[in-house]
Amino acid sequence: MVKEQTESFFGDNSPLRNANAPDGVAFKYEPRQQQVDMAYAVADAFDNDENLCIEAPTGVGKTFAYLVPAFFHACQTDKPVVITTHTISLQDQILNRDIPLLAKFLNVKIDAVVAKGRSNYLCLRKLNEIADMDQSLLPDDNITGDLGRLVSWAEKTKTGDHTDMNRPIAPQLWNAVCCERGNCLNGQCAFFSSCFLMAARRRIGKARIIIANHAFFFAALATDARLATRPDAESHEREKLLPDFSALVIDEGHTLEDAAANHLGIRADSLTIRRILGRLYSDERKTGLLAAERFSEARELVVDARRRATLFFSSLLNWMEPQNKNPLRYFVPNHIENYLATPFAKLEKSLAALADDEEDAAVKVELECLKDAVEEQHMALDIFFTMARQDFVYWMEIFGRDKNDISFNCIPVDVSPLLAEQVFRKPPVIVTSATLAVNGDIHYFMNRIGANNAQSMILDTPFDFKKQVQTYIAKNMPDPRDVDAFLDKAEGHLRHFLTLTNGRTFVLFTSYSMMNNLAKRMEAFFTENNLTLLLQGDGLPTLKMIEKFKSTERAVIFGTSSFWTGVDVPGDALSSVIIMRLPFANPDHPLEVARTERTTALGKNAFFDYTVPEAVLKFRQGFGRLIRTKDDTGIVVILDSRIIQKRYGQTFLHSIPECPVELID
Ligand code: SF4
Repeated sequence: MVKEQTESFFGDNSPLRNANAPDGVAFKYEPRQQQVDMAYAVADAFDNDENLCIEAPTGVGKTFAYLVPAFFHACQTDKPVVITTHTISLQDQILNRDIPLLAKFLNVKIDAVVAKGRSNYLCLRKLNEIADMDQSLLPDDNITGDLGRLVSWAEKTKTGDHTDMNRPIAPQLWNAVCCERGNCLNGQCAFFSSCFLMAARRRIGKARIIIANHAFFFAALATDARLATRPDAESHEREKLLPDFSALVIDEGHTLEDAAANHLGIRADSLTIRRILGRLYSDERKTGLLAAERFSEARELVVDARRRATLFFSSLLNWMEPQNKNPLRYFVPNHIENYLATPFAKLEKSLAALADDEEDAAVKVELECLKDAVEEQHMALDIFFTMARQDFVYWMEIFGRDKNDISFNCIPVDVSPLLAEQVFRKPPVIVTSATLAVNGDIHYFMNRIGANNAQSMILDTPFDFKKQVQTYIAKNMPDPRDVDAFLDKAEGHLRHFLTLTNGRTFVLFTSYSMMNNLAKRMEAFFTENNLTLLLQGDGLPTLKMIEKFKSTERAVIFGTSSFWTGVDVPGDALSSVIIMRLPFANPDHPLEVARTERTTALGKNAFFDYTVPEAVLKFRQGFGRLIRTKDDTGIVVILDSRIIQKRYGQTFLHSIPECPVELID
C-alpha cells in the first residue's frame, strides 16, 4: 500500500516533475534513480514491517526518499513516524524545506514538529517564583540583569523555546527557569493551561511526522523504561516523551553507536553535584530551597555533604594528576570507596521526609525533584565504584575550563545487544547515512548497532567523482607518530596547496595538539598570504566557524573531530580537503581500549576487525566533505603515506569513490 503510493509519487506522473517550489524554497527536481530506489526500498520495509539499513551517498536526496513513504505510512497506520538525526541543521532542513515541499506536492497539510527535551522550554511557574523573589536572594549575581529581558520575552513568545530568543540569557538563569523532569505540578499548576511544555507535548501528540535528535530519542526510551517499572504507569502516561509511533527513521545513522553509548551509559560528576547542593542550600549566601528556618536539620546535611564532596573530589583530582592520564580507566571494583554514599543517603532520607510532610505543592515537588537528583548521582557513583554493571567500561575524567571538575563514566562496551532489544526488535526501523559501508560492505556497521535482522542496500553516488575530484597522496611522509618530522614535511604541502587553492580548504586533524602546533608554525604564512585561519577551539563554535568560512574569502579551517562529519559547505567556498592523518581513534581512550579488548575476546583481530573499519568510516566522512552537489569540484590531499604503504591502506582507498589519484613527493 505504501509502496503503491510511493510509486505513484515518484512515477511518470509524479507531481514532482512539473512542480514549482513553495515561495522562498529553492527547488529544482532532477530525477535520480538512486532516490527512487531508496524510496521504494523504504516503502517495502514499511509495508513488510522490516528493518532496513541503507547507505545513501550525498546527492541522492535521501531525506525526501524516506519522507514520502514515511508520510504515507503515518497516514495509513494513523500513528506518527519518528525521524531522528544527529545535527540540528538536518532537523531544520526536514522541517523547513522538505516537509513544506512534500505538503505542496501532495496538496495536503502535514503536521510535523521537532521534539525537544523539556529543558528547552520555559517553566512559567518557576519564572513567576523567581520574578517574585527578593532579587538579592537569587543564586547568582550574574543572572539579575537578564531577568527583565526574560520576563518580557515570556510575555511575547508563542513557543517558550529558548532557541527563539534573539539573544541568549545567562545559562544559570535559564537553568533556574526551564522545565525539568520531576519538577512539574502538571494539572495542579496555576500555569497549566498556558504551559509551553504542555503545548509542545500536544503538538507532538497530533503530529504525523516527529523529528528529534538521537539524544532525545534515547531519553524517550529511558523514560518509557522508567515508567514501565511503576505500578501506576498509566497515570504517568503524560510524562512519556514520544507517543506510540508506527515507524522509526534514524538518519545520520553513522553516529548511532556513539549516541547510544552515551545515552545508555551512566554518569555522575562533581559539577552536577555542586549545582544540586547549591540549589538545596548555599551556606555562603544563605539561599536555596532549604533556606527557611523549618529546614535547618536538612541544611546541616547539605553543608556536610558539600564539605565531604569537596574533600573527596579534590583528593581524587590530586591522585589523578601525577598519573598523567585523562581519562583514567577504573579497573578494580571497590578500589575506591564511595565516600559520599552515607551523607547522600542521609540527605535523601531527610528530603523524602520533608517532601512527605510539605503542604505547599511547589515546594513539595521541588524537594522531590532534588531528592531524585541526589539519588541519581548517588546511584551512579555506587555503580561506578563497585563496577556493578557487567560489560561496561569505567573511567574518570577531569574536565572544565580550570580542569577542576571530575566525571565518573560507565558506558556499555557493546551497544548492539541493547539496540537490538530496545530499537530493532520493533520494526520497521530505517537506518540511513551517506557512509555506512566499509570496502563496499555494510555488515560491519549493522553488527555494531545490533541491526542483524535488517535488510540492507548500498546506493551508487549520483556524482561524477572522476570528473569532480582530484586526489593527491603524499607518498613519502614520515610516520605521523614522529611528530616533528611529520609536521616539517606536512607544513610544506600545506603551504603549496593552500596557495594553489587560495585557501578555501578544510584541514582535518585527529588531535588538537598537532593542529595547534601546526597553526602556530604557520602563523606568519597565513598573514603573508592574506589567508584567514579559523582554528577549532579558538572561541567560535562549529556552526559559527562554518558561517565565517563561507562568508570570508581565502579562509582555511583547521578542525578536529566535529569537522570530519556533518558540516556542509556546497559551492566554491570549499575547494579542497586536506586529511592530515588517517583517523584512527585515540587508542588510549578507555572506551577504545575496552572495545578492542572485546573484539579480541570474540576471537577477532582487534586492529583489522575494529580499529581499521572504524577509521575507514570516519575517513569516508572526511573525504565526503568536499563534494556536496553535482557542480562542486575540488581536490583531496592525503598526507598520511600509510594509505599506500600499509596493507590496510587498500581498505581506505577502496572505500572512497573512484577518482583520479596522483602520488606526490
Ligand atoms: S505545568 Fe509544569 S512545566 Fe508547565 S508551567 Fe507548570 S510546573 Fe512548569
